[in-house]
This record gives sequence, C-alpha cells and structure tokens, in this order.
Amino acid sequence: MRRQRNGKIVATLGPASSSAERIRSLFEAGADVFRLNFSHGTHDDHRARYDAIRALEQVRGRPIGVLLDLQGPKLRIGTFANNPINLAAGDTFRFDMDDKPGGQTRVRLPHIEIFQALETGSELLLDDGRIRLNVERCGSDFAETKVVTGGKLSDRKGVNVPNATLPLSPMTDKDRQDLKFGLDLGVDWVALSFVQRPDDIAEARRLIAGRAYIMAKLEKPAAMQHLDEIIEMVDGIMVARGDLGVEMPPEDVPGLQKRIVRACRREGKPVVVATQMLDSMVHAPAPTRAEASDVATAVYDGADAVMLSAETASGDYPVESVEMMDRIVARVEHDQLYRTIMDAAHSPPEPTAADAITAAASQVAHTISAAAIVTYTTSGSTTLRAARERPQAPILCLTSKLETARRLALTWGVHPVHTEDVANFSDMVAKACQIAKDVGIARDGDKLVITAGVPFGTPGATNVLRIARVGQ
Ligand code: PGA
Ligand code: MN
Repeated sequence: MRRQRNGKIVATLGPASSSAERIRSLFEAGADVFRLNFSHGTHDDHRARYDAIRALEQVRGRPIGVLLDLQGPKLRIGTFANNPINLAAGDTFRFDMDDKPGGQTRVRLPHIEIFQALETGSELLLDDGRIRLNVERCGSDFAETKVVTGGKLSDRKGVNVPNATLPLSPMTDKDRQDLKFGLDLGVDWVALSFVQRPDDIAEARRLIAGRAYIMAKLEKPAAMQHLDEIIEMVDGIMVARGDLGVEMPPEDVPGLQKRIVRACRREGKPVVVATQMLDSMVHAPAPTRAEASDVATAVYDGADAVMLSAETASGDYPVESVEMMDRIVARVEHDQLYRTIMDAAHSPPEPTAADAITAAASQVAHTISAAAIVTYTTSGSTTLRAARERPQAPILCLTSKLETARRLALTWGVHPVHTEDVANFSDMVAKACQIAKDVGIARDGDKLVITAGVPFGTPGATNVLRIARVGQ
C-alpha cells in the first residue's frame, strides 16, 4: 500500500488510541509515524502501543516510524494548602524553595535554576501563559513578583520563563530512564523537549549512540538564536508550537515556523509542524476553516510532516482527524500553485557527488516523466538528499537496514522498503523494477531513475544514475 501524497502524518498515541485495532485504523487512515509521548502514561502503556505498531508493521509489510518524545525539564510550582487560589492583577506573590504548602501570597518553586536566571523586570508565566507575573525583587532562592494578568492557580501548574536561557540540561533523570526504556524497545526517533542551546544535544547524542535519529523540539525562544547550529547537530526538527506559543506572542509563531521549515529544507533535515493543527477535532467531527488552512500552510511550506497531538491521543475523533489531515495534505499537493511555491523555495545542491547525482536524478525524472526516483541507501543519507530536492516523482527508498526504512517513514515523499542488498548492476535494476511494480508506484512501460553507490554496499558513495524501463 502506497500513500497518495508526499507530506507525512505523525499521530500521537494516548488513551483514545491504545488498542491494536485503533492503532491499525489510524495507520489505514494515513498515519505514517506514531509518537509515544512520555509526558503521559507508564512504561507498560508505551510498550503495549509499541508492540501493537510492530505487529501491524509485520502484517502490512510496510515500515512504520516510532517517535519517542521525552518530557524534558518541564518546570512546575509546588502545591497549595487550599487548592486552588485566585490571583488578581496588582497582587504581590512570592516564589521560594520552602517546602511548606503555598497560600494566597507564596508558593514553592522547586527549581533553583530559575532563581539564578531571573532579574528585576523578568516575566514569569504560569499555567500555559494564562497567568503573567513581573519580577520586582529576587535573590538566589526567592522571587517577589507583581501579578500582571491574574486567574485561578492550582497545584503543580507549569512555569515558563520566556526571556531567559536557563542553566538546565534538557534531560532529567526521568528522561534518562525513559530513553533507555525506549531504545531497548527499538524506537526510531527520539525527540528532545525544550532544547535551548546546541550543547543540549550532546548528552542525548552520547546516550543514543546512533540507535535512533534525534529530533530537537524548538519550543524555547533561546533556541531560535542558535537555529542553524541546532539543525546541524540533529537529524530532524519539530516546530513545537504549543510551548513556543506560550513563551512568544502568537503573532510571532507563524513567521518562526516559516523560518524553521525553510532552514531545515535547506539542510535536508526532516521537519515536523506540530500542535493544535486540528485542535477543535478533539471534540468535534470537523475542523475549523482556520485549522484546515493551518495544515495547508505547513504543506505549502514544504514541511516533511504534520502532527496530531490531543486530536489522536485523547480526542473524541482520532481516526477522523487523521482522515481529515490526509485529505488536506493530498488536496494541497494537487493544487497547481503547490509546485510553483515548492520550486520557489528550492535550495541548490551542495558541491558533493551525492548531491550532484541526486539533483540530476530529480531533473532527469522530471524530463522523462519517470514514475519514481529509486534510491539505494544504507544510512539513509542519499534518500534524505533526494527528498531535499522535493522532486515531482515519488522517492522509492530501498534499504537493507530495517531501522533506516523506519526512520525515513517521516521524510517527505519517501516510500521506504526493506529489502536485501544487491550484488551487481543488473540485480540493482531488476530489483528496483520489481519492487516499484509490487508497491504500485510503477507499471510495465514506466521509467525509473535509479541512484546507487558502486561498488555496492559502500555507504555514502552515491555515484551512479541509471534510467530503467519497467517490464523490459
Ligand atoms: P508537547 O510538545 O506536546 O510535548 O508539549 C509539543 C509542543 O509544545 O508544541
Ligand atoms: Mn512542548
């Protein structure tokens, strides 16, 4: 089974999507990658979902990507003696390290790093930005603030410090345990939350040691100052608009999304646009016009994937949400303007043999109306370069490494197939033609443009372009 679109769909699993049957329905509806969100659920919950995905993969004979999303250093206040309290604009309110329950005038904030980063005039946001406070006085273990926007405040609500780079590692002890658990399961991608600096990625990279691709979630304003360096250090990026939109004014988010997608496309790194894409479908069977337009914008920008969060994890219409997203993506890609817009943001090839061959393959495929570009790859890098071209023909990725096939399920335009290595040239052509036919990408008489590295089996040595005719 082949999807009739290039853009991919990531679906988050949760209470509304845990049974094997529901996961199968989400896959049939169009989910290419499943996200296990470790901010919620137990290891047993995640293991059951993971096993259901792999069992489904076996039945359907198609690689499915699994993305482990680590919670990261989500900052929270302590608890209240009389939960909740009400804060009004103009009130003074104190944060400190005292572990007594909070009250109307103070609460515990068990993160010494926050106090170290605050200064007079800093802004503190509580409960997803609903409550705003301004720091008037602070020390190494306390802060006195004035309430700017008040509201109800309850136990353990989240805290955001928008304009500071906090001296926090993006990995907590919980993250380290979750990561080990996920790598032992065999996840394909690991997403790091609240990345602020390029250095934040180093520890994860060391612990992961090549066993999964790494995705940085861009949800802190500080990360935007090091965008290019962060992109260079990871395998993919998530535009995490949920938290990004708390720490930045909403009017800043669309421009940042465009900047991030463009930078990722230039580097040929997969980019996912996430959060609230079809938010009203959490409780309604259809999205708003604005939401349909939001998904479409990400597709017109050339993002690799669009993501569903609460819509599939805990919503009332998980399968309908994926179906709707599938329809929007496919419809945009059939729009005549789509190609024009895509080509306008095309990045020229870099001066390497692989890029030269890949760019030529895209050009040749277009000129002769080839049914597909076929890439033989071990590490996945040749296929990623082919996807960077955003070619008109679909990309059939043939790899002998199952994990490569699974990782590339997230990438724009790529249909990954796990198969054995080829030994010689005629094998290479025969196998490409056979598989292209089997998966329904090509029929007898169609042309294929094949790229590979000769001698066969040498990773990173793409140096051959071959045109083949299927069935001849
Ligand atoms: P989250 O990340 O759902 O884990 O918070 C995505 C986002 O912040 O947009
Ligand atoms: Mn987030």
